[in-house]
Amino acid sequence: MILTVTMNPSIDISYPLDELKIDTVNRVAEVSKTAGGKGLNVTRVLAEIGDNVAATGLIGGTNGEFLLQNLHPNVKQCFYNISGDTRNCIAILHEGKQTEILEAGPTITADEANGFLHYFKSLMESAEVVSISGSLPAGLPVDYYASLVELANQAGKPVVLDCSGAALQAVLESPHKPTVIKPNNEELSQLLGKEVSEDLDELKEVLQEPLFAGIEWIIVSLGANGAFAKHGDTFYKVDIPRIQVVNPVGSGDSTVAGISSGLLHKESDQELLIKANVLGMLNAQEKMTGHVNMANYQALYDQLLVKEV
Ligand code: ADP
Repeated sequence: MILTVTMNPSIDISYPLDELKIDTVNRVAEVSKTAGGKGLNVTRVLAEIGDNVAATGLIGGTNGEFLLQNLHPNVKQCFYNISGDTRNCIAILHEGKQTEILEAGPTITADEANGFLHYFKSLMESAEVVSISGSLPAGLPVDYYASLVELANQAGKPVVLDCSGAALQAVLESPHKPTVIKPNNEELSQLLGKEVSEDLDELKEVLQEPLFAGIEWIIVSLGANGAFAKHGDTFYKVDIPRIQVVNPVGSGDSTVAGISSGLLHKESDQELLIKANVLGMLNAQEKMTGHVNMANYQALYDQLLVKEV
C-alpha cells in the first residue's frame, strides 16, 4: 500500500467565466469542487491506475468533511483531525487565463503537530511506500518533513518527497534522506540558487553536488522535454513524443504517482521512469488536474525511450 501525505489539503473550486469583471458582480453557472492539494492529486492518480492507496494529512471543519466525501472510493482514509478549517483554493478560468485565489489554510498547533507525528508512526506498519507532497501549513516547523522522513526511515519504508523552497532545503540539510525527490527545472534552479539549463552535462554535474548526497533517486521533470534522472551513480534521460496538451497542471503530481507506483511494484529503473512520464503526459492531456485516462496508457508507454547517459 502507498501512503500519501497532504499536510495542507484544499477544496479546489473552479469558476469558469467568459470574462472576469473587476469591481462588479461575476455570476458563475458551472462550479466544480474537488479534493485538492498536490498529495491528493497523487492519491487520485494512484486510485485511477488501480494501486492500493491510503491518504493521510490534516483536515478540519466542514471543508474537511467535504474533502473526505469527495475522495476516490478506492482510497483508504487515514486523515488526522485538527481544530482549524481546511482551506479553499479558487481558480477563476477566464479569457484563456487562470486567476487563482489561494487561502493560506489553518495554523497548526504544537499539540496537533506532535499528535500527527505519533499517528504517522502508527501508519508506518501498513505502508509500503510513503509519498509526501506539497507545502507545509503555518505552525509546523520548516523541518517537519525531515521528521516524517526520519520515522519512515526508521520503519524501513521508502519515501518519495515532492516539495520545494525552505521545506525541501531543510530536508536536504537534515541527516534524514528521502529515497526520491522530483524537482522540476525551476525548483532545481531555486534550490541551487542559480539557473540550471536542460543541458545533460550540466544536469549531471549539479546532481552530484554535496547537497544531494545520500538521496538514492533524483528525478528532474522537464515538462514537454521529458525527464532527467540520477539513480545511484547511473544517469538517465527520458525522451517523450510531442502530444496535444490540454492542461499540464498536476502533471508533476501524476509523475510522483508513477514513481511511487514503480517503487511499490519494485519495477526496473526503465519501467519506473516510463510509468512516471506516461502518467505526467496523460494528465497533461486532460482538463481535470490530477486525472489520467488509462485507456491511452499503453499506446504512450510504447513510444517512450529511456537511455542511459
Ligand atoms: P511539474 O508539474 O512538477 O512542473 P512537469 O511540468 O515537469 O512537472 O511535468 C511532469 C511530467 O509530465 C513531465 O516529465 C512529462 O513527462 C509530462 N509533461 C508535462 N508537461 C508536458 C507537456 N507539455 N507535454 C508532454 N508531457 C508533459
